[in-house]
Amino acid sequence: MIKRSFSEHATQQLLPEHEKAVKVSEADLAKVKRDACPVCDVHMDECHQAGEDFKRLTEELYRLLLVNPIGRKMFSPGRLIVWMKEGVRTPGILLAEGASVKSSAAHPTLHVLEIRTNREIRNDTDLLPFVPAFRKHLTPLPQAKKHISTKTLHVPITDLVCLTKHVTKGVLPDIFGGEGHAKAKEKLHQICRTWNADIWDEMDLGRIKNLAVHDVASKRREAEVKVIKSPAADCKSFLKHYAMCHDQWLIQTHIQQLRQSLSEQNLQLLPDYEQRIQVLKDLSFIDDASRIQLKGKVACEVHSGDELVLTELILENVLADYEPAEIAALLSAFVFQEKTDSVPRLTANLERGMKTIVDLSEKVNAVQTLHQVIQTSEESNDFVSKPRFGLMEVVYEWARGMSFKNITDLTDVLEGTIVRTITRLDETCREVKNAARIIGDPDLYQKMAAAQEMIRRDITAVASLYM
Ligand SMILES: [Zn+2]
Repeated sequence: MIKRSFSEHATQQLLPEHEKAVKVSEADLAKVKRDACPVCDVHMDECHQAGEDFKRLTEELYRLLLVNPIGRKMFSPGRLIVWMKEGVRTPGILLAEGASVKSSAAHPTLHVLEIRTNREIRNDTDLLPFVPAFRKHLTPLPQAKKHISTKTLHVPITDLVCLTKHVTKGVLPDIFGGEGHAKAKEKLHQICRTWNADIWDEMDLGRIKNLAVHDVASKRREAEVKVIKSPAADCKSFLKHYAMCHDQWLIQTHIQQLRQSLSEQNLQLLPDYEQRIQVLKDLSFIDDASRIQLKGKVACEVHSGDELVLTELILENVLADYEPAEIAALLSAFVFQEKTDSVPRLTANLERGMKTIVDLSEKVNAVQTLHQVIQTSEESNDFVSKPRFGLMEVVYEWARGMSFKNITDLTDVLEGTIVRTITRLDETCREVKNAARIIGDPDLYQKMAAAQEMIRRDITAVASLYM
């Protein structure tokens, strides 16, 4: 819990940074002045939003196509496509069917022959959705044959904006050299001539009998109609006003995301955070000014088990009364939690230690209950109702040198579980050893080092059989 509280504390400190980011973005937003326009002031926001919807739905559509048996075949070698290369609208030709074998299912890519635009920087026309009605606005492709060049590369499917109905002939593989090279280049020259040709129309998706595909396609059709029928599309400065709207939209979206994450964090953390802080204050892990105290520092060393109870155990100096093997046995309660029918036979000393752990956990629990800290069952410090002490005898005997075969006769707990518990216990012993260093307790430090030696024995050899 203490780690949780402190990491939450770190998040809290991040909040002002977050708020600053919102302020900066808001300042940016104020700088983006949109020219007043009688048409666009009224209609552009809606038009632009529909354009963004169209882009998003296109991405969704192509993802669906790629996993559909018939759709996948539409990604066929030679097919002309349009994609966004770092925001610049770029034509290309598919080199292989479906997604590239090199890509993953989560991030599919296409193997593409890029027809280079010779533009490095995007312009206003690149912001438009790729719908037939807007092709007249697009920046022309290279017109001189000597300016036409290609490159092969992998394109993320998310950058694809149009799978056209046009399958090129005579380009592949001739463009890579040989007799047909000049002819292939001539073909590319023709493709580049104009955006106003039906080769750029999207391929017909009617053959796909898939509800999800049709659902997305029809939503996308609606978005397209909304964009092109918008009165804003007839504005004389359409491109410029669309771009200004886009800038504004980008910043607004950014602010919204920041706001959202801010409020989510606040909602999740704040009430519980205050309560947890109160618990840490009551138990003196931190002082009234939330400064971390020695106890808190010790608790930060503990990563396995219940750090609050374990810290109490260390700082109440409980372990001083016990031998290393006994300490190992007692600490097993912090790493073991499983039902067992075997009742461990414990020495009077260990019985006493067990009772002390239960008392300490009840003390910690009482404070948490007082402050109504909600605990997940995983982080609960409950040592009474949960079977935590079931491996004490096993660990005690193991530490005292009994063979692994013999200790398995002491319990019905599975051998693999025993090995895991001892391995985790080694880690807990190391943490308590570090804690001893922090509080300056050389005796405890020595004991923990000894306990580690004793339980480690040949457990790594045994472990290899079970893990
Ligand atoms: Zn306008």
